[in-house]
Amino acid sequence: MEMEEGEGSTEEKYDVEIATTASSLGGSGVFHIINDILGFVLYMHQQIPSVLQDMSLDFDGLQTEFTDLEAHLTQPDVKPVVRRKLLSSKREVKHEIKKMQKLMTTISTLQSALQLLIREAPDIQRVVLILGGSPLRPQKAYELLFTRGDNGLSFEGDFSKSKATEALSKKTIRALISTGAGSTSCPGPMRLFVLVQAPPSLNLPQDFLPKRDFRYNRKFVPLKLRFKCKTQDNETNSPFNSGTNDLIWFQCRHIVPCPLKLIEVSLSLVNNTQASILAGNRSTLLRRRKKMIFKIEDVTVYFPYDNIYPEQYEYMVELKRALDAKGHCLLEMPTGTGKTIALLSLITSYRLSRPDSPIKLVYCTRTVHEMEKTLGELKILHDYQLTHLGAQAKILALGLSSRKNLCVNSKVLAAENRDSVDAACRKRTASWVRALAAENPNVQLCDYFESYEKAADNALLPPGVYTLEDLRAFGKNRGWCPYFLARHMVQFANVIVYSYQYLLDPKVAGIISKELQKESVIVFDEAHNIDNVCIEALSVSVRRVTLEGANRNLNKIRQEIDRFKATDAGRLRAEYNRLIEGLALRGDLSGTDQWLANPALPNDILKEAVPGNIRRAEHFVHVLRRLLQYLGGRLDTENVEKESPVSFVSSLNSQAGIEQKTLKFCYDRLHSLMMTLEITDTDEFLPIQTICDFATLVGTYARGFSIIIEPYDERMPHIPDPILQLSCHDASLAIKPVFDRFQSVVITSGTLSPIDLYPRLLSFNPVVSRSFKMSMTRDCICPMVLTRGSDQLPVSTKFDMRSDPGVVRNYGKLLVEMVSVVPDGVVCFFVSYSYMDGIIATWNETGILKEITQQKLVFFETQDVVETTLALDNYRRACDCGRGAVFFSVARGKVAEGIDFDRHYGRLVVMFGVPFQYTLSKILLARLEYLRDTFQIKEGDFLTFDALRQAAQCVGRVIRSKADYGMMIFADKRLPLQTCRYSRHDKRSKLPGWILSHLRDAHLNLSTDMAIHIAREFLRKMAQPYDKTGTMGRKTLLTQEDLEKMAETGVQDMVY
Ligand code: SF4
Repeated sequence: MEMEEGEGSTEEKYDVEIATTASSLGGSGVFHIINDILGFVLYMHQQIPSVLQDMSLDFDGLQTEFTDLEAHLTQPDVKPVVRRKLLSSKREVKHEIKKMQKLMTTISTLQSALQLLIREAPDIQRVVLILGGSPLRPQKAYELLFTRGDNGLSFEGDFSKSKATEALSKKTIRALISTGAGSTSCPGPMRLFVLVQAPPSLNLPQDFLPKRDFRYNRKFVPLKLRFKCKTQDNETNSPFNSGTNDLIWFQCRHIVPCPLKLIEVSLSLVNNTQASILAGNRSTLLRRRKKMIFKIEDVTVYFPYDNIYPEQYEYMVELKRALDAKGHCLLEMPTGTGKTIALLSLITSYRLSRPDSPIKLVYCTRTVHEMEKTLGELKILHDYQLTHLGAQAKILALGLSSRKNLCVNSKVLAAENRDSVDAACRKRTASWVRALAAENPNVQLCDYFESYEKAADNALLPPGVYTLEDLRAFGKNRGWCPYFLARHMVQFANVIVYSYQYLLDPKVAGIISKELQKESVIVFDEAHNIDNVCIEALSVSVRRVTLEGANRNLNKIRQEIDRFKATDAGRLRAEYNRLIEGLALRGDLSGTDQWLANPALPNDILKEAVPGNIRRAEHFVHVLRRLLQYLGGRLDTENVEKESPVSFVSSLNSQAGIEQKTLKFCYDRLHSLMMTLEITDTDEFLPIQTICDFATLVGTYARGFSIIIEPYDERMPHIPDPILQLSCHDASLAIKPVFDRFQSVVITSGTLSPIDLYPRLLSFNPVVSRSFKMSMTRDCICPMVLTRGSDQLPVSTKFDMRSDPGVVRNYGKLLVEMVSVVPDGVVCFFVSYSYMDGIIATWNETGILKEITQQKLVFFETQDVVETTLALDNYRRACDCGRGAVFFSVARGKVAEGIDFDRHYGRLVVMFGVPFQYTLSKILLARLEYLRDTFQIKEGDFLTFDALRQAAQCVGRVIRSKADYGMMIFADKRLPLQTCRYSRHDKRSKLPGWILSHLRDAHLNLSTDMAIHIAREFLRKMAQPYDKTGTMGRKTLLTQEDLEKMAETGVQDMVY
């Protein structure tokens, strides 16, 4: 719309019309409506951190933080490095206080100016709020029109807000949201300008200046609102029919500056979990850091925040029960409820309460990112415990990862992957290389390792919490290798954070974790897929390329043997003698000479001597050649073959003359030979290691495994790709030593439903098994089950339906409709890469993709990690700048497991279909058979459980805190059967409780148009202000006083 100065038209159209029963709004009503809409505009377009009413709370929080920092700095024993960090945080907080102060002062001056204006000219009729660089270059504009009642506008003397005005304000905000106002964020920080039409006689030069030439840019259309009073008749619809030509525009001199940095920080404060805050901005983190000390029975718990969620408290109570009972436990708690900090607080406090007990916390994470996040949280907790308890709270906590993540030698780090870094390190640190370097100065060593070795027993880490970054920095500073230092310190550390494999994969656990004490508390975080990790740790695949590589390795080994025979035959003889004597193969090795332990579990490794037929190096090579030949022959098959390890070993024995006992020792024998031959290129010898790994496992286990040989992938039968897989079906095998060895093992995740299935899959008896609800102040999760398109045709990824044009079209239409309603980020998950590729190609041909791209940018997950990371970066950027984006991804992919789409990065997630595993897979069928026969778990039950945990994992990506909100659509006609009816009949649900509790009956069998309606309603609801501390007497944020009261009265009812 183009509007000339002072121009009016009786045909002017309004986006929102608000009728009020009052005869006049009155000056006070007008002021409050302007003020509320001003707050709405600033907040909804993400220009201020919180609604106007809450800003003073945020400001108080900042000031308290500043005082805390000052107090901390005055303490005499603050180390220089901590002091530096605190000073920098103090500067940051101070800067934020200034900005917040300026923002609050301007808003308050603007409010006073508006009040003055209303006193002077109660007849004001038109007010414009403009967000943008200047009034002439608006990004958003809201034009408010107050039409007169018979009485005209008047000023009643005071500006208190009446109930009627309050109701009118709410009505207006609701109406605004339903038009989609505020659903888009503005690109970057803006300024807010206020313009009013008033008589030219207005004389408030301190606050308002005439702006006669004001008009919008030709192409710009403001959002218009009109407020109509009861007594107003049709003739007075236009404000300009009674002398409006006399009015002119005035611009308020008080322009609201909107500081983006502050907004980013504070939005994360509002929306992120404590965990993500901790991982990110230090000042935000410090601002949240408050002090809570409370008792759970005999344990004094130190919790580094000013409030605790009720479910965090409950979680701690149950965890303590398990620790007291010295047993294992299963705890399911929704994402975004602060599971990690609850767990760390309880276990470290438990340890403090029992100073004589050697309790160690071993925290296993799936990714390095999660490891760093956990250590970040622990740091804050530790700082807090130190300030309260002083030196007695000191601990040593460290993260342990591969050389790739810890090495500081730039030449070694240049190697491209993990195996190459390991091999490059070994080339500089193996004992024989170092011995050679003593004679030949041209042999390259690692200076960091040499200094570390030189320091010998003095190479220790002082107490503290060390992330991988901290370890690298410490190592560089001292000149010691951080990797070997961390490995060495594991035995002294009170808290160790590392990956699952360090405990579950016997090849790694045998070296890294063998020293851990029984009293250690083992935590597997995000453990919903733990059964798959266990199975993978004991499964091996052999392809043609593996056999070819292994043959090359054997040639090289053979050459080396010949070379040694000619130059240093004594070495081979010594090895032979050692093997005859049956000496432990690895027991006397230095740290640098160990690289992988035996793949079989500790209890299964025989302590006998190595069999005679493989003691001589050349005999061993000969046995391996026969094994390769046999495996090559087995791969030359045209049919799928499945057999048990027992029958495989007997056939191998009869055809190649290799016995079971010989197979069992292959891995250790190879290890010994490679050391004797001083081979350091371990990465080049991976194929032969895989073969020996296979041989040892197949020779060790008779139950729980299958050997499956497939000539091609069934989905691509025309491409020959033979594969021989030794597949483990029993997850309990890998985890059994952990349960047997340690006193308490905690298995925890946001998705462990049905919680009774895990003890059966992993064969253990938990002393505590609990699933916690999320205490909510509002229904911020909106799950829906969509079964039909707008044309009522069912949608599903069931094999016979998934390619149906109607299904593909309906899925596309669903997305097109949703992207036009939902602001910011939308994430879509498909059941597989091939399905995603197919459906998107069809959408492209039918123009659906184009319709989507008209609303939002589109990004894809691919199998290439770098490409996907880039796509994710750009996706986030598109969400940040307000353009909005759609991310296409795959269930069971990297994105589904480890990437968060919190806040505006994910307002909706659509799960297209149910992510069942490929049910014709021979490995899956063998596992299902095993589960049925051994654990009496029905095939259908397991498949549904597995598919729904993956689906829950995908949709859970959008909610990472309680302040967040998001919708989840399960788009498949099979879902109601799998979720609700299932739960009704069997009294057991396979979706986590925190999703099911929000899944209403009315949201179960939806068509696309019904889902759109629900989405609109939900978004409107989420835009309303709410009380974050809880309502109706049920608290969702507990203070220290609440906990004390609960302890006194024993009333725990208040928590939910
Ligand atoms: S010893 Fe340490 S610093 Fe040196 S190459 Fe190996 S991992 Fe890197």
